[in-house]
Amino acid sequence: MLNNTLVVRNTNCPPSCALCIEACGQRAGTVYGPVIEKIDLPEVDYHRILTCNQCSQADCLAVCPTGALSRSAAGTVVLDDSRCVGCSICNLVCPYGGIYHKNGEAKSQKCDHCGDEPKCSQACPNNILDYKKASVVTELMQEDALSPGLPYCAGCAMELLDRQTLRIVGKDIVLFGAPSCNVLSSKVKVPYYGTLMTNVASSATGVSRYFRKIKKDTICLAIIGDGATADLGFGQVSAAAERGERILYICYDNEAYMNTGIQRSSTTPFGSWTNTTQVGSRGRGRQGTPKNVPLLMAFHNIEYVATATLAYPEDYARKLLKAKEAVKRGMAYIHVLTPCPTGWKFETEHAVEVTKAAVETNYFPLWEAENGVIRFTHEVKNPAPIQEFTGLMKRFAHLSTEEIAQLQEYVDQSYAQIKRVVSCG
Ligand code: SF4
Ligand code: SF4
Repeated sequence: MLNNTLVVRNTNCPPSCALCIEACGQRAGTVYGPVIEKIDLPEVDYHRILTCNQCSQADCLAVCPTGALSRSAAGTVVLDDSRCVGCSICNLVCPYGGIYHKNGEAKSQKCDHCGDEPKCSQACPNNILDYKKASVVTELMQEDALSPGLPYCAGCAMELLDRQTLRIVGKDIVLFGAPSCNVLSSKVKVPYYGTLMTNVASSATGVSRYFRKIKKDTICLAIIGDGATADLGFGQVSAAAERGERILYICYDNEAYMNTGIQRSSTTPFGSWTNTTQVGSRGRGRQGTPKNVPLLMAFHNIEYVATATLAYPEDYARKLLKAKEAVKRGMAYIHVLTPCPTGWKFETEHAVEVTKAAVETNYFPLWEAENGVIRFTHEVKNPAPIQEFTGLMKRFAHLSTEEIAQLQEYVDQSYAQIKRVVSCG
């Protein structure tokens, strides 16, 4: 879960400054005295503040035997002083020293973000403490309908995609899936409809029409890969779009058929190695340019189209909310770039970094189309060179300087094409 966060920007706290601590000490409520501390290690020129991290999986909250700790609507871990018996178990499990005895009573205390208006960050004149609100995400996130532990490769961004999607879209859904990496059938607590790779959109259409007939708002949500969307099922997706069927269709694009052994799809980029676009004495990876499926969907003039990634979760959350509304009137389509550590060949901890590089190089621009108007939602005016994306993975490792230049040219042309349409909107 993403929470509102008090960000400590750097370690350059001036040694003599204690304004945040003074401000914290003057706050009202059941917290006594400052719950923010300063660590001064002048011998190594280290001056930093220490406070509760508001962990998304907070151990303190899990161990409290009295239920004194809970999560606020803004995602903050808060302490109900009246229920705390001062057993200190929470103090023992917190790895950050974020909750402790301090008031001489048999009570614990901790930072509660001053009820979503932290005094410390307001008092900091040095731009070191910053309070970041994740309002769209936190206010609308619900428990997701997935069981713990999904069977993906280590480092796969798919679990994040599934959970993020279902937390925002909610549980009043029927989920549609086809043979793919995204094997959710036995892992979801909502109705699941398994189809072939060719007929996801038409199956979802039939069920959504039934719900319309019985006047129910249940959302028919398809989460399908690029193979089933851009290749095998494209005709069905296009036909459902043309008819304006009320389905929410999310394509997770990992740019190849990963589940069956990394074969090229029509979204595989120029130069990429796959098992069917080999690199050797004759092959140089995928030749030609990929199909721009989200742009094609936008040209169907459906209710809502967007591109999204998991490196920008609030952007994705906003788009899901719009799609959830749009699907009451017609089809909504979101195309999510979903890096695959196995097929793209990068280290398992780098999925978000890779995704971010895709956006910041304009390899994968973030935009949305509503009411016939296309606009960027995160415009990158000074993009990084494409090597900052390709260099993070091995599927492009064989590319020569000339081939990298070719890929850059494609990225520039593709971005210019979207920019032209945006300008016309
Ligand atoms: S008190 Fe510790 S464990 Fe609890 S949320 Fe804060 S940092 Fe995390
Ligand atoms: S000290 Fe208070 S908040 Fe911490 S575990 Fe005990 S009862 Fe819960």
